[in-house]
Amino acid sequence: MKKKNIISNKILKIICLHNYTKRTIISLYKYFNVFYPKELLNDIQIGLKKYDVLGRIYIANEGINAQISVPDSYVNKIMSFFKKININLCNININFSIENKSMAFWKLQIKIRKQLVANNIDNVPILKNSSKYYLNAFQVNKLFLDSKSIFVDIRNHYEYEIGHFYQALEIPSKTFREQLDMLKETLLPYKNKKIVLYCTGGIRCEKAFGLLKKYKFKNVYQIYGGILGYINQTQKYSLPMYFKGKIFVFDNRLAERVTNDILSKCRNCNQLTDSIHINCAYHRCHRLFIQCKNCSKKFNFYCSTKCLNI
Ligand SMILES: [Zn+2]
Ligand SMILES: [Zn+2]
Repeated sequence: MKKKNIISNKILKIICLHNYTKRTIISLYKYFNVFYPKELLNDIQIGLKKYDVLGRIYIANEGINAQISVPDSYVNKIMSFFKKININLCNININFSIENKSMAFWKLQIKIRKQLVANNIDNVPILKNSSKYYLNAFQVNKLFLDSKSIFVDIRNHYEYEIGHFYQALEIPSKTFREQLDMLKETLLPYKNKKIVLYCTGGIRCEKAFGLLKKYKFKNVYQIYGGILGYINQTQKYSLPMYFKGKIFVFDNRLAERVTNDILSKCRNCNQLTDSIHINCAYHRCHRLFIQCKNCSKKFNFYCSTKCLNI
């Protein structure tokens, strides 16, 4: 009991400290050869120390991936810091979050990992010239209305179910690895179409894109900056927005609303619902799912009658 109090006081203190600072959430990634990950980690740690940056930064031999929350007054400084820290990062992919909530992260974690986005497959090619096939929001919208194109969602099912491009193809799988394994077979019937890949910020598409090119798919493109990049550009240039619903974000907020359309359905009664994802109350199940308010009352936050009655 005592321990519980100490933790909540600590969290409360952090909430108070950070609540007053206006913050911007930035995602950055770049695939490049990192020969000395530890050195890069140290440089970043020292460089960011005075700026009160929160979030997570992953460094691997294949590159860097970061989701960070930065006080508004330091945003430009932090962006140029990353661009200058390594010559390969001068053109690092940078995305801004749509909503700017201060409470997305509570601490800064910088870690060395085997891969930037876990897929457990070695030798997935990353194409050096993939930027040639990046689409800006104007081009995305043009292709969206083109009957010879197909949009492919390179995310997990729980991300797709709350928001996606209308009629985008989903590759149903539990992990990114499974998805990459299924990519060729799933897309083979569409080989002659213009294939538009997208994910949240663009990083997963780099691998999917590399694989499809390896399999000799000709017309493959990826949305520059992913859904986040697309939304930022459609807002900036007042373009029609063809992404509908919400995006799943990997911080304390879970989801950001993009449009007012509701795409998600309750797992139990199949009605459309705006409820956010929860984990099944039965700890051994822990399934991540969506449940409407009525069903939450009925099932007491368990995913099924089976879990409820266990
Ligand atoms: Zn329901
Ligand atoms: Zn369950």
